[in-house]
Amino acid sequence: MCRNQRELLTASDASAPFFVGVDVGGTSMKIGLVDDFGRSIHVGELEANGTNRSFVAIKTEADPHNAVKLITESIRMMFNRLGIKESNCCGIGLGIPGTMDQNTQCLRELPNLSGWNRFPIAAELENSIKMPVVFCNDANAAAYGEYWVGSAAGYPSVALLTLGTGIGCGIIIDGRSVNGFNGYGGECGHIIIDNSKDAMLCGCGVRGHLEAYAGALGVARRTLQLTNFRNSSIRNHITPETRLCDIARIVYNEAENGDVLAIEIVVETANYLAIGITSILHTIDPACILLGGAMTFGGKDSAVGRRFLQSVIDGVKNYTFKAIADNLVIDFPVLGSNAGYIGAAGLARKEYADKKK
Ligand SMILES: [Zn+2]
Repeated sequence: MCRNQRELLTASDASAPFFVGVDVGGTSMKIGLVDDFGRSIHVGELEANGTNRSFVAIKTEADPHNAVKLITESIRMMFNRLGIKESNCCGIGLGIPGTMDQNTQCLRELPNLSGWNRFPIAAELENSIKMPVVFCNDANAAAYGEYWVGSAAGYPSVALLTLGTGIGCGIIIDGRSVNGFNGYGGECGHIIIDNSKDAMLCGCGVRGHLEAYAGALGVARRTLQLTNFRNSSIRNHITPETRLCDIARIVYNEAENGDVLAIEIVVETANYLAIGITSILHTIDPACILLGGAMTFGGKDSAVGRRFLQSVIDGVKNYTFKAIADNLVIDFPVLGSNAGYIGAAGLARKEYADKKK
């Protein structure tokens, strides 16, 4: 099934050259076409149980060779449908939730796509579609999307934290994504915020990381501890069947209903984030910090989300230097789940422009 996004530009109104962005997730992938100004011309999402598409190629057990075939077919189909010549498309950005070994150009560390590990995806796709392919980590792709045409447009640098089960982070400085020597640049979810012996355990196996406190699972564990000895309407919504990953949502709902403990948990989560963000500020001093992902307590459309954001801003002010706090923008991103494919396309465009120089 192919779902079209609203407010797409028609191909005749778009400015060539065009770039394809592919955002590969654990359960679905988005393929979009973007023009030279970052405006979307088309985006399709391939979903499980689609009527005319096999989804198996991007499941955990998937064969990455099939995925390359599927991506190639989908891109060709998109060009045909839009009446766009392949020669007007100058690159493909491939955003993937993992890192790439710089020596072998093979994927590694893909927890949800383990069958893809050690696969040279960029080279294989390039060979299949005969077009330049740029690999990028999905967090950096999303950050680049916001940097190019989103909430961070016009700023020289941005760190986008994606708050979900874990905490992802993409960093762009002067148009370049921070990949790091080993591909671990911008792993800010694993900044240490507590080095005590009984610090909370992170998903990576180490204690005291930011993600262990401010990721959705961390919020859930703190909530379960607190509701043991505090009165709260949260208790009424947690049963033995409740999944840990759903508890942050319950906290958000109860905070909206005015539950005192739920609001405290939201503010405390913001404070943990402020501590982690301060380490980012004192390392790279970015112009803009964005807080995206599913766990922003409703984001800008909700009173609780706005309070969450303000608490992060207030916390950062307490922890950092005045000059940094005075000039720093902390906000929610605007591109949502489209940031990944738009940013991947943007990184392909950057590669194309750099090669032309
Ligand atoms: Zn960790």
